[in-house]
Amino acid sequence: MSEFKDKSVLVLGGSRGIGAAIVRRFASDGANVTFTYAGSADAAKQVASETGSTAVVADSADREALIKVVRDRGPLDVLVVNAGIALVGDPLEQDPDEIDRLFRINVHAPYHAAVEAARQMPDGGRIIVIGSVNGDRMPMAGLASYALSKSALQGLARGLARDLGPRGITVNIVQPGPIDTDLNPADGPMKDMMHSFLAIKRHGRPEEVAGMVAWLSGPEAGFVTGAMHTIDGAFGA
Ligand code: NDP
Repeated sequence: MSEFKDKSVLVLGGSRGIGAAIVRRFASDGANVTFTYAGSADAAKQVASETGSTAVVADSADREALIKVVRDRGPLDVLVVNAGIALVGDPLEQDPDEIDRLFRINVHAPYHAAVEAARQMPDGGRIIVIGSVNGDRMPMAGLASYALSKSALQGLARGLARDLGPRGITVNIVQPGPIDTDLNPADGPMKDMMHSFLAIKRHGRPEEVAGMVAWLSGPEAGFVTGAMHTIDGAFGA
């Protein structure tokens, strides 16, 4: 397929899981893809050599490093902010510095990356952030900071869609339910509990999320903006 032939795509957090599937999808559709990673150099090298994409180390918690990567990449047709972390635990016991780091990665980075990308993005560009069904529903204890961070992205999409709409740039949030990655393995200890919430009784696949990102990035989705797109097997239904 060549739907994204010669399009310039940046995926923040593309070395593993959903982000790696997004890199693979765009690369196989003909795009010039750059992706960032923070800790998984071997995985990043593997994805880059397999897809012909470019891997750049940049910690999303470091605002200046993040902004530099976005700026240096030049005019982007598509920005995907995928990098995100979860911290599970009793909020009364959690380290506030770790919680603030989560907010820098999950909330501040999507905002600053989207704004920086918009400076050079051509008309009709696409900004997509990977949120979570937990932005809408949180049926488990121990994940309040994560839920807060993913709900915050909804405001980002609604607001920025207004700012960038006049240029035809769309801003959307993709909200996955349980997806089989290192973060949430299909055979992990929470499997049975998670599947009890699902209409489709399995974890989703990273490629399924990548498919939704590709559609939102394509020409059919030019009127879709400021919106949340849930892909969760009815986890939150
Ligand atoms: P993984 O932990 O499997 O992969 C995370 C990816 O993000 C890795 O490539 C990692 O790179 C990168 N990343 C993490 N922190 C940073 C950072 N500080 N700077 C740069 N890159 C970073 O997660 P998933 O693929 O499961 O999740 C991806 C996104 O999807 C996240 O935003 C997550 O919240 C969301 N999501 C996931 C769900 C799931 O069930 N899996 C459900 C709902 C939402 P590296 O290892 O190199 O640091």
